[in-house]
Parts: sequence; structure tokens; C-alpha cells
Amino acid sequence: MRNIPTHPGDDFTLPGQVTLVGAGPGDPELLTLKAVRAIQAATIVFVDDLVSDAVVALASPSARVVHVGKRGGCKSTPQAFIGKLMVVAAQEGERVVRLKGGDPFIFGRGGEEVEALRAQGIRVKVVNGITAGLAAVTSLGVPLTHRDHAHGVVFATGHAKPGDAGPDWSALAATAAQARLTLVIYMGVKGAAEIQHGLLDGLPASTPVAVVQSVSLPQQRQALTTLGALCETLAREQMASPAIIVVGDVLAGVAAARDESGWVAPFDRAA
Ligand code: SAH
Repeated sequence: MRNIPTHPGDDFTLPGQVTLVGAGPGDPELLTLKAVRAIQAATIVFVDDLVSDAVVALASPSARVVHVGKRGGCKSTPQAFIGKLMVVAAQEGERVVRLKGGDPFIFGRGGEEVEALRAQGIRVKVVNGITAGLAAVTSLGVPLTHRDHAHGVVFATGHAKPGDAGPDWSALAATAAQARLTLVIYMGVKGAAEIQHGLLDGLPASTPVAVVQSVSLPQQRQALTTLGALCETLAREQMASPAIIVVGDVLAGVAAARDESGWVAPFDRAA
């Protein structure tokens, strides 16, 4: 990678700084070159649950790898504690990388982490990653914004923070119908019944829906259905987190490719 020009401001070998790195949806080849450079330069790496092992494996063998998600067998580490761990490591002169699934600033609390670090005077950089919603739709061979079907796209969360009611699904559906927007819903499996119910206020039951689980990983699964049959499909196919729910007419083309059970072959792995 020596012959690729690097931005002078992106010196990942400086001690005492924290870099939030987007690990993408799982496939290590979807990382940016900058992400790889930051990961390889780190002396300590704090890893979220949704980051694939193949990405973590890019860290230096001498780097300390700290899993701060639920995968370690315990409840996920409280956000404030993760912040403290990163501050202490940076103050000790480590080169800290915080590996976050997808893009650090699409949900997943990257913003909160940056604020906490900056409040302590720590230098913070952020390296983009490919967000799961984008990779999910691309794996079906579908453009999020095909101009025959959509004027834009909305990334929405199905799981807001405690005390926050989250998106108004009826209002969002009405806007999506009127403005022709594709909806890309993160963290939506658990609340799918409420999402489906709300969206049906403003969108037809026949609106195409895709659910893509474990995007870009060898165990990726996907189902194509309609808004009216969303929950029934999730239950029948036993779809589980992490998954992306995509709603909109951009999926109309891929509907032709599904078999009778509603399954479609992933675009990039199709025979
Ligand atoms: N920052 C992440 C999103 C974090 S929120 C990003 O940009 O992708 C966590 C949610 O992201 C999950 O509940 C799921 O909806 C989605 N997600 C993350 N990785 C995924 C994957 N490999 N496959 C499907 N969904 C994924």
C-alpha cells in the first residue's frame, strides 16, 4: 500500500489519538484502505459486536484487542465505560482504534463517543465504512435510488434510545409515498410488528420489502416479501438480527428474480 498517497492529516502512528473506524458490514474486502491502515497502526483496538473476526484479524499481533459488545458472553459494556476505557488508553499514549460495524456515524452511537472523547481533550478521527443498509441493497443488485422508482432514501432506526418513541412510521410512510423515498430500516426485526403496522397507514400492502440478514458474510440470508406480509415472512423464515429491512419500489425489479418461497439469490453470489 506504500504507493497510495495518504492524507498528511491522517497519521495513524501518532500516540494518544483515537480513530473511530468503520468496519463495514463484515466482508473485510469492503473496508477502505484508510481503515486498514488505521487498524494496522493501532496498539489497542476496542471492538463492537457486529464487527467480523476477519476485520479484527487485521490488527497487529502485538495489539491488545478488547471486545466491548455482548459477544464476550456478558451484557454489552455500558457506553460511558467504553468512553472511559478509550480516554485512559489515549492518555497512556496508546494508538487507539475503535472498530464499529458499518459506518461509525450511521446509528451505533459514534457521535456520542466522539463527543465524550473531545470533552476530555482527546484528538479524534473518524474513518467511514460501508453502512450495512447500503451493502444490503447492493447485494440484491438493487440501486437505492433508481430514478425510475425513487427520489431519495431514508435511513431509519427501529430501535430508538430509551424514552424516545422513535420514528413516526405512519408519517414516514406518507412522506415516502408522496416523495418516492426508499426506506432502509436498521435494528427493525424486534419491532417489526409496530413498523409494519405504522407503515401500512401510508404505503400499500403490496409495497416490496426485502429483509437481508448478516449482509456480506458467508451466512448472509435474504427474503423478499411485501409490506403486508412482513411479519409473517420474518417468522416463517426465522430471520434474526442483524438484519436490514428495505421498503420501496426500487425492489420491484428483484421481485421478478425470487422463487416461490420468496427467496432471491444474492446478486454478487448468484450462479
Ligand atoms: N453503524 C452500523 C449500524 C449500527 S446499528 C452501520 O453503519 O451499518 C446496528 C444495526 O445495523 C443492526 O441491528 C442491523 O440492522 C444493522 N447491521 C449491521 N451490520 C449488519 C450486517 N452485517 N447485516 C445486516 N444488518 C446489519
